[in-house]
Amino acid sequence: MSRWIDLEKKYYMPVTRRQPIVLVKGRGARVWDEEGKEYLDFVAGWAVNSLGHCHPVVVEAVEKQVSTLVLASNQFYTLPQLELAQFLAENSCLDRVFFQNSGAEANEGAVKLARKYGKVHLGGAYKIITALNSFHGRTLTMVSATGQPHYQEPFTPLTPGFVHVPFNDVEAIKEATDGETCAIMLEPVQGEGGVIIPASDYLQKVRQWCDEKGLLLILDEVQTGMGRLGTLFGYQHFNVEPDVMTLGKGLGGGIAIGAFLAKERCVALQPSDHGTTFGGNPVACAAALAVSRYIVGKDIPSHVARLGEYLKGRLELLRARYEIIREVRGLGLLLAVEFWENISGELVSACNSEGLLVNPVRPNAIRLMPPLTLTPEEVDEAVRRLDRALGKVLKEEGQKAVPQPG
Ligand SMILES: *Cc1c(COP(=O)(O)O)cnc(C)c1O
Repeated sequence: MSRWIDLEKKYYMPVTRRQPIVLVKGRGARVWDEEGKEYLDFVAGWAVNSLGHCHPVVVEAVEKQVSTLVLASNQFYTLPQLELAQFLAENSCLDRVFFQNSGAEANEGAVKLARKYGKVHLGGAYKIITALNSFHGRTLTMVSATGQPHYQEPFTPLTPGFVHVPFNDVEAIKEATDGETCAIMLEPVQGEGGVIIPASDYLQKVRQWCDEKGLLLILDEVQTGMGRLGTLFGYQHFNVEPDVMTLGKGLGGGIAIGAFLAKERCVALQPSDHGTTFGGNPVACAAALAVSRYIVGKDIPSHVARLGEYLKGRLELLRARYEIIREVRGLGLLLAVEFWENISGELVSACNSEGLLVNPVRPNAIRLMPPLTLTPEEVDEAVRRLDRALGKVLKEEGQKAVPQPG
């Protein structure tokens, strides 16, 4: 076993479940381990490496900025931050931006904005309705917002004020709304929850409810934003406009950055209500500006929509050959393959050996979230590797009987 794995065992907090692979290099959609073995990377830093690894646009932007001005605090104006704010506002339905360092922090900012909005405009309303099976991050308040008890139980008492309802159920939101509700916070597609796509009119109905009751609609687009679903932002796919949107993951093309954006009328925050030391720093913003310009300039979302359909089609062909595949689902390049049995652990190991990195998002499902710049040839190669890995796992399982859809 690699000495790096021994070091991790000895010195790192034992909280991360890792695959036994030590990665040392990446280029495009591929990464290499310390022994020089090459992998197609369909994890992409959990949907972070939007332009793949070490894209020249990102490398150049970071190199240039890191040798010009790295950080100067938000006590002063710095350039990439303001150019990026302008770019995101001009290319979205939101008006104002604040930069953070991660998705969880972006959501924290959105929740603070909603609470202040409740105080100022809704008579002190403070409750936020979120969905069961959601994922909003790992800070204590985002753990409280996240509708998955296993993330919460070790850390109670939680931040009060979050109400969880089933996803894709407008009536449940209506029932949970009371005079103290200030906002509804949802992912357009639940990513970490297993790539769960709501009914096409769900978000529109939630939007109508928010309008009726004067509530803020916060969309957590940390995973779905910046082209991932085949539209620049997920809300465009569902034909709604949020009042507040959060971004993270793919925004910086690998460099840590988060953002929350809001419509002008919702910006209840005032000077000194919020702040950050590293958020909006020139290096992260220069990277994100280069990535955002590339994604918009090259119309990457259209490429993602086409390639996502192509990948889905190839996976459907696998489903026709492997009875154990229950469903292929997803939008753009955020896809999941669900099985009738809990094989994702074994399958991920087999994929590792075949040179394909995927995420075991559920015991019975894997998630695919490759770089948005993926090519059809890389899709073909990845599907061949997945095919071989599946063959291996099923052979080892002795072709166990598979239940048929009822
Ligand atoms: C990953 C994720 C987060 C948390 O982002 P971090 O950068 O890990 O803090 C929040 N919301 C969604 C939808 C995510 O997928």
